[in-house]
Amino acid sequence: MKLAPRHSLSFKLLSVVLLAALAVGVVLSCAQIVFNAYTARHVAQSEAEHILAMFRDPSTQAIYSLDRDMAMQVLEGLFQHEAVRYAAISQPDEPMLAERSRPLLESPSRWLTDPIFGAEMSYSIPLTSRDEAHEYYGDLKITLDTAPYGNDFVASSVFIFIAGILRALVLGLVLFLIYHWLLTKPLSRLIEHLSKINPDHPGQRKLPMLRGHEDNELGLWVKTANQLLESIERNGHLRREAEDSLLRISQYDFLTGLPNRQLLQLRLERILEDSSGLKRSVAVLCLGLDDFKGINEQYSYQFGDQLLVAFAERLRATSAHIGTLARLGGDQFALVQADIEQPYEAAGLAQRILDDLETPFELDEQTIHLRATIGITLYPEDGNTAEKLLQKAEQTMTLAKHRSRNRYQFYIASVDSEMRRRRELEKDLREALGRGELRLVYQPQVNYTNHRVVGVEALLRWQHPTRGLVAPDLFIPLAEQNGSIFDIGEWVLDQACEQLREWHDLGFDGLRMAVNLSAVQLRHSALPRVVSNLLQKHRLPPRSLELEVTETALMEDIGAAAQHLNSLRRAGAQIAIDDFGTGYSSLSYLNRLPLDKIKIDRSFVQDLQQNDDDATIVRAIIQLGKNLGMQVIAEGVETLDQEIYLIAQGCHEGQGYLYGKPLPARELTQQLKQVQRLNNEV
Ligand code: C2E
Ligand code: CA
Ligand code: CA
Repeated sequence: MKLAPRHSLSFKLLSVVLLAALAVGVVLSCAQIVFNAYTARHVAQSEAEHILAMFRDPSTQAIYSLDRDMAMQVLEGLFQHEAVRYAAISQPDEPMLAERSRPLLESPSRWLTDPIFGAEMSYSIPLTSRDEAHEYYGDLKITLDTAPYGNDFVASSVFIFIAGILRALVLGLVLFLIYHWLLTKPLSRLIEHLSKINPDHPGQRKLPMLRGHEDNELGLWVKTANQLLESIERNGHLRREAEDSLLRISQYDFLTGLPNRQLLQLRLERILEDSSGLKRSVAVLCLGLDDFKGINEQYSYQFGDQLLVAFAERLRATSAHIGTLARLGGDQFALVQADIEQPYEAAGLAQRILDDLETPFELDEQTIHLRATIGITLYPEDGNTAEKLLQKAEQTMTLAKHRSRNRYQFYIASVDSEMRRRRELEKDLREALGRGELRLVYQPQVNYTNHRVVGVEALLRWQHPTRGLVAPDLFIPLAEQNGSIFDIGEWVLDQACEQLREWHDLGFDGLRMAVNLSAVQLRHSALPRVVSNLLQKHRLPPRSLELEVTETALMEDIGAAAQHLNSLRRAGAQIAIDDFGTGYSSLSYLNRLPLDKIKIDRSFVQDLQQNDDDATIVRAIIQLGKNLGMQVIAEGVETLDQEIYLIAQGCHEGQGYLYGKPLPARELTQQLKQVQRLNNEV
């Protein structure tokens, strides 16, 4: 910051001091001039007295002797003196003895001096005898022209005045220099330093101590200012730290330290902006861990948290050279892959993440296999805003989870309509039961020792008024979500029991009814009472009702599950574990749970012939079930070869298209009757 010199303090001081000094100088000079005038008048008077004294004796001589010539000579002498304008020697009561005059001197300063001194000044001296008598003879008179004295007076006055002004000027200048040197210069230096101070880091550059000013006010000022700057810096630092941590809290996930949804959205927006001009795609991957809730409940929430941290670490390593990674919340993560040319690059990344998960996590001496489902959207095809891309990727992921897990799925425009369809379905589902759109079909279960139908599994069907038959895999999860599963489940149990009663009455009295229970139903505390009421209501023998629960439903909380299963057993139901082999398959829980039956999942049965691993798994499951004293049933048996293998391994029962597809009760009754007739004939 540069100051115009005329605005500087020293300049201001200079003008003030100069004016003051000039004023004082003028006043003092005037006083001196007045005094000077007085002196000049005095000089004229004493000079007149001196002249008179000098010419007194000759004048007395001349008047005594009445010598006119002599008197004229005296006057001649007097007129030698420049200032004498008029001189006379007079005698009392007599005519003048001698008299002489000359005109006033021409002087340019007369206009000034005449008003002060008058144009002339008159003096006289009495002429007396020298003896004791002092006899009086007459007078010597002179008149002095004031011009010579006035000239001297003017000359000295001008000198006094100029000297006074000069003195004031010099004084002002000296003061200015002193002030400039002592104050303005150091102040300017300080101002220059202050202007260079970085307002963000005021403590970085200290103000220099001014040499020679260490102990005065300036030095104190510098010290105080430096202290102030330091504390501003300190405060700023503290404030920045607080702001940083606030920002971290608001933009980063506390557990994993990954950016949160908000920050991801900001970054994604920037990436989209950068990519919009280029002909490059951006992929948004939304990843959800499968059955993470189950892990939390099986182990503990702390363990779940540790696992999430470990998983985030792994994702970080995978995504290090790819781009942005964030935790959206819970068990959901998102990745942004910028600058891709082909969708398969995103698919490659997704597959890499899924492949990475093949390596289990080792935590607290536990080995955990995580699985994930990934939804992928591409910019610009699937959306042009960060929000849309993220939202659609999440939807895609959710939908993919409903279909099957541990996979990735690209967003397709149809997903949008599918989401809408799902919402409509969910709405319709609430009314499906009341409108009588639900019905049960039954699939036979065959005993391998005598090849007779010993049981049936009740499978739910929804005949939608406009959409036709809706698969249970689609609507059961919806029913679980909106809570209608309780009513539906109870209706299924009631229907199945009623149907079983009918079959028992028809003579198929050894027949058992298997009913699927959803995890949500299992946790409902009223279920055991419902079951025992139904068995009573339909007069069914104990253990004729078999409840199928999936492994994942049990694993969510093994202690609670054991309690629920025990109460169900006490109510008279048998318990079968469904889809065995697809979940955690932790063998240790099997003997902790009150189970009657293991149901080998149909995926293993399907590939028995083609896949040695599956054959081994099937054999192992059968062996395990037998060792634990449980019944083992294989589902999805479609071929004779499969049956032969299962029987060879000692499997107790089988279910599948080989023995019959799920059928409405009436049709199955016919089949049962037919088989009964055949058996009777044999
Ligand atoms: P699940 O309990 O594993 O039922 C067996 C599924 O396998 C049935 O499908 C059945 O039609 C099918 N299946 C039977 N034999 C074969 C075969 O030889 N080959 C093949 N490929 N498939 C066969 P569905 O009826 O579509 O039921 C699907 C799932 O829906 C069931 O799986 C069960 O988890 C659920 N579900 C069905 N009804 C109910 C119910 O009343 N309540 C509950 N909570 N879930 C139900
Ligand atoms: Ca089942
Ligand atoms: Ca099954």
